[in-house]
Amino acid sequence: MNRLQVLFLVLLLGFVALVWLGTGRVSSPKVVESVSSVAQPEPQITQTTQTTQIKRIDQGLIIPVAGVRSDQLVDTFTASRAEGRTHDAIDIIAPADTPVLAAADGTITKLWQSERGGTTIYQLSADQKMIFYYAHLARYADGLTEGKQVRQGEVIAYVGDTGNAGPGNYHLHFSIAIVSDPKRYWEGTNINPYPLLHK
Ligand SMILES: [Zn+2]
Repeated sequence: MNRLQVLFLVLLLGFVALVWLGTGRVSSPKVVESVSSVAQPEPQITQTTQTTQIKRIDQGLIIPVAGVRSDQLVDTFTASRAEGRTHDAIDIIAPADTPVLAAADGTITKLWQSERGGTTIYQLSADQKMIFYYAHLARYADGLTEGKQVRQGEVIAYVGDTGNAGPGNYHLHFSIAIVSDPKRYWEGTNINPYPLLHK
């Protein structure tokens, strides 16, 4: 192929990727990534990737607690916490032992007992760009292990009041962090889950 044909092919792929994004039928994030890397000038790659990412999860996340409707959610992202911290998460109120569902496809990165969070799960998104964090869990689902691949909607745990939730204050504490290094699952920039879940 000559250079003109190559350029045409790249533009065509870019257009197809945009159409896919627009209709929410992104079957494989890797395809979109490689296309945008080719089609976009260097300085725009990071911004484009993040915008694409947020748009994709906007269309793709489910409320990670069984039976909870969108209109029952309350935006608690900027609520203040002890020691000057902000909440940076959403609290989803639900009865004890309600199934907690994987918000999206991904991999269980860490099962962790934390003083504040109690029984917790860190899940890496399928494209390795985000960490989903689930806290105050009563217990894990049977067979859940670190490294396990989970599908969106799969039961991964049950709602509890462990950690600093307060006895009887049953809810799921759920946060989403954009991570630059998927191995450093505890680092990242939290984004507000509320607009991504409230549709
Ligand atoms: Zn919380």
